[in-house]
Amino acid sequence: MNLEEYRGVWVFIEQREGKLVDVGLELLGAGRALADKLEVDLCGVLLGSNVKDLAKDTFEYGADKVYVIDDPILEQYRTETYMKAVGDLVRKYKPEIFLYGATANGKDLASAVATEVMTGLTADTTLLDVNLEKRLFEASRPAFGGNIMATILCKKHRPQMATVRPKVMKKLDPQPGRVGEVIEESISLKEENLKTKVIEIVRSAKAAVNLEEAEIIVSAGKGIKDEKGFKMVEQLADVLNATVGASRDVVEMGLCGHDHQVGQTGATVTPKLYIAIGISGAVQHVVGMQNSEMIIAINNDPDATIFNVAHFGVVADAFEIVPLLTEEFKKA
Ligand code: FAD
Repeated sequence: MNLEEYRGVWVFIEQREGKLVDVGLELLGAGRALADKLEVDLCGVLLGSNVKDLAKDTFEYGADKVYVIDDPILEQYRTETYMKAVGDLVRKYKPEIFLYGATANGKDLASAVATEVMTGLTADTTLLDVNLEKRLFEASRPAFGGNIMATILCKKHRPQMATVRPKVMKKLDPQPGRVGEVIEESISLKEENLKTKVIEIVRSAKAAVNLEEAEIIVSAGKGIKDEKGFKMVEQLADVLNATVGASRDVVEMGLCGHDHQVGQTGATVTPKLYIAIGISGAVQHVVGMQNSEMIIAINNDPDATIFNVAHFGVVADAFEIVPLLTEEFKKA
């Protein structure tokens, strides 16, 4: 493989039902910095059906070019079709670095493309840089239970690929009027030759929990003890119009679904306000919420490590203070 042939930073621009998913725009922010360092173009890859018009919305967030494949066969995400489409683009244009959001589809696609084009992939990264001297992409992620940051290099293959957690990178301030180039490509697959077909889309009856987008999160830890305690947290969240988060222990106790989990194996969140109730502050939880704008911790143990990351700490029994807070906020 001639590594010199590979140039340019690419970002997979995820869309869902014709709307751009935020993480793609966040990655354009991160990708812009890498592309500027390497003095190359920043390119988006946009796939779907009736999505071409979305391409121009990425220019104000930093993209120089967008490769678009707009085809009914790409209407719903399928590993088979998306992998082939992206694989063909990679073989044709040879990008040096390729970033994907660590969403369900982004993770699936990135690993499939890595196999398709025979390269490596660093999953769930939180820090990106380039070593200009060696012209190597440095993708870092928490490892060993969040105790160290591991920087992973892909020395012999290209593109150098990574999935990046949503909400970790920052979108650029939009630059209205910034223009770029839309490059239309096509896909050669035929529906009748595919192994997978989408027969029906069944939406979850329960409204999806969207922790990543939440502005206020009230999060329950094992200190809330049981269903009654969890209800108490939900009531506080209700009056604050907040989303309910949870530690892994609370999820494992069966008090809520995994979609509420914050942390290393849950969501990474950056709300304006994060209220941690009965959460000890294990590193695996903290990595998922430490970048919240304001953290308030309620814990009856004054030595709980959560207080190390909290802006305000309340040493108290949650069962006494939380109902009081709920009553006070109701009045406000
Ligand atoms: P505990 O650690 O048991 O803490 C309970 C806290 O409640 C204590 O600080 C206690 O003082 C306080 N408390 C008790 N009673 C009261 C009361 N009446 N009022 C006020 N406070 C009270 N964890 C996550 O959260 N998210 C993850 O994504 C995650 N991923 C992991 C991945 C790996 C590979 C591993 C090994 C672990 C992971 N964990 C994760 C688990 C993590 O290590 C901790 O076990 C977990 O976060 C602890 O949850 P907790 O704080 O609710 O419970």
